Amino acid sequence: MLIYILSRHKTSYSTSRLEAAIVNAGHKVRIIDHLQCELRIGKHSHIYYKGEELEKPDFIIPRIGASATFKGSNVIRQFEMLNVKTVVSADGLLSSRDKLRATQNLVFHEINVPKTYFPSAYQTNLRFMAEQVGGLPIIIKLLEGTQGIGVSLAREFREAKQVIEGHNRSRNKYLVQEFIEESSGEDIRVFVVGGKAVASMRRIAPEGEFRSNIHRGGRGEKVILTEEEEKIAIKTAKIMNLSVAGIDILQSKDGPLVLEINSSPGLEGIEKYTKIDVAKKIISFIENECNL
Ligand code: ADP
Repeated sequence: MLIYILSRHKTSYSTSRLEAAIVNAGHKVRIIDHLQCELRIGKHSHIYYKGEELEKPDFIIPRIGASATFKGSNVIRQFEMLNVKTVVSADGLLSSRDKLRATQNLVFHEINVPKTYFPSAYQTNLRFMAEQVGGLPIIIKLLEGTQGIGVSLAREFREAKQVIEGHNRSRNKYLVQEFIEESSGEDIRVFVVGGKAVASMRRIAPEGEFRSNIHRGGRGEKVILTEEEEKIAIKTAKIMNLSVAGIDILQSKDGPLVLEINSSPGLEGIEKYTKIDVAKKIISFIENECNL
């Protein structure tokens, strides 16, 4: 079997682990930089890569960073058009990267999320916005933020005003969200592969920080999911059309709330804290899909 990993970073932990797992399973692998792919679309559609017409692989594993979402989705779609299977669909990538679109999609499928409000660029009434999500404190987050960057907590209107004015000046789109105080500084990352929750960790923020992202200095520990959490994570990945996904869940007093869907979830934290070989699970899933 031939598998392409779409990745810009050959030596990153996740890419290297996937590459090794593919080789260990006896398959061929190539790492393709999606930004260097050129797409020929027509009767004889192809992908050109550094001047070479790419051989059709059996499967692709897209690892698309936030800054390359659009180009990445175009390349994935071209592979889909060529009937190549992928662990992350082009649509899944696009919908997971836009926090508003993802939240709307989840609510449509009756999955609970924190109360969220999307104001227009003309809205200046902070009190009104806060009321829509149950009052202060509120979370203000960029629509396309990642790794906790662009997520702010405002306990007072003065703080909220500062953050929102900054976003308006930079013409950044943002949403306002209910702050789930009881889960402050903690969330659960569920790694879903092929409709199964294969590894889960609790992420815990450092002292004085409400964001539990590992990139913001958070640490992880292995966690056993409740039946409900497991069901919700699996359903979320399915709705988003993602065979591989990292689903972030907040444990609120009213039950689990889905916060985020990651379509290129990192392997380093989850493998370190759970000691589970997630890379191998992904390759086993691909083998299964190819009836191997
Ligand atoms: P990113 O995509 O940048 O990681 P998230 O929306 O996942 O952004 O937020 C980053 C972190 O901030 C989360 O992992 C969580 O710990 C915290 N957080 C975000 N939104 C809320 C919220 N509504 N209530 C409580 N904590 C939150």
